Amino acid sequence: MNNSVQPDKPVIVSCKECLKQIPHSEAKMEEAGDYVLYFCGLDCYKIWRERCDREGKQGSS
Ligand SMILES: [Zn+2]
Repeated sequence: MNNSVQPDKPVIVSCKECLKQIPHSEAKMEEAGDYVLYFCGLDCYKIWRERCDREGKQGSS
């Protein structure tokens, strides 16, 4: 067997919007208070962001 040193296992995170599993290095990160959300791409980020904005506006007007 080849006993070469293996790189660190890639960290996998789940997209907050579509729940797809993506490598941490490719995820888009959004800090939300004291935790971090991950997205597989800008599309999911926008969907989440727009819904978040809508929900945030409810009750304030
Ligand atoms: Zn996604």
